[in-house]
Amino acid sequence: MKTTNPQKRSIMEQVYKLGLSSISRLNSFLPEAANSGSYILCYHAIDNDNWSFTITPNDFVKQMEYLKKSKNIVKLSEIISPDSKKDNNQVAITFDDGYESVCQNALPILRKLKIPATVFVLGDNVNPDRKEMSENKKLLSIQQIKELHQVGWEIGFHSKTHAYTRALDKNRLRKEIINGKKEFEEKLGISLRYFAYPRGIYTDKIIRTVKKAGFKAAFTVDGEALKKTIDPYRIPRTVLDRNRDMQQFKALLSPLGLWLGSKRISVLKLEEHLNYRIHKLTVNL
Ligand SMILES: [Zn+2]
Repeated sequence: MKTTNPQKRSIMEQVYKLGLSSISRLNSFLPEAANSGSYILCYHAIDNDNWSFTITPNDFVKQMEYLKKSKNIVKLSEIISPDSKKDNNQVAITFDDGYESVCQNALPILRKLKIPATVFVLGDNVNPDRKEMSENKKLLSIQQIKELHQVGWEIGFHSKTHAYTRALDKNRLRKEIINGKKEFEEKLGISLRYFAYPRGIYTDKIIRTVKKAGFKAAFTVDGEALKKTIDPYRIPRTVLDRNRDMQQFKALLSPLGLWLGSKRISVLKLEEHLNYRIHKLTVNL
């Protein structure tokens, strides 16, 4: 999620950190309740650079070891299946964009800990919309995606180029989502059942296109815990960024932390939508 004003962003980050440390203190009185709930996590890159959505391999190991001890880590298809709703202590791990570091750095860690995962990849790994992605990291090759699939990972789709889907007309949306899916399935030889909305943006028009493409479920980054009844085209996930120590990580995954995270995302989403409206107005002036 991008915001345009760094100052505003840093104030929001401070408020969020303050909230997490209060939640951490509250949670220490009720450790069992603090650890309840099922949720889906959304990572991006696992590396040692300083992009805000890169997690260091060191932090990633600690996070996975903590989850392995405290939760049941299952496949994405399992956590969203109707049968799993009886278990209120599940987690699924996902990665968006399909960076090469997922194969190089996350895979060995997850293999060692026997943790299943899903990666949402782009159809065009040569010329994606780098401005929208806000970074320039190397993406997984077709061969690497196939290898991940062979070792049991689930492969989802994240649009063809990571375009700014809110601004696309029907035709271009069709190219990004419907045609993009078909072309990429042919290249991969794997059918893509799940879709992750680029930048977490979904409108009625985008959801309609995702359904038309034949996806069985689609994932947002709205940051809530999974409820008993979920709309299969608005399944929430929680995005992890690089700024969290273990105390904050534990706090943000507790029911109160997930609630706070979802409010933070609502503000960011509102800002993105307003920016788009203002941009459209000024273009039309
Ligand atoms: Zn993305």
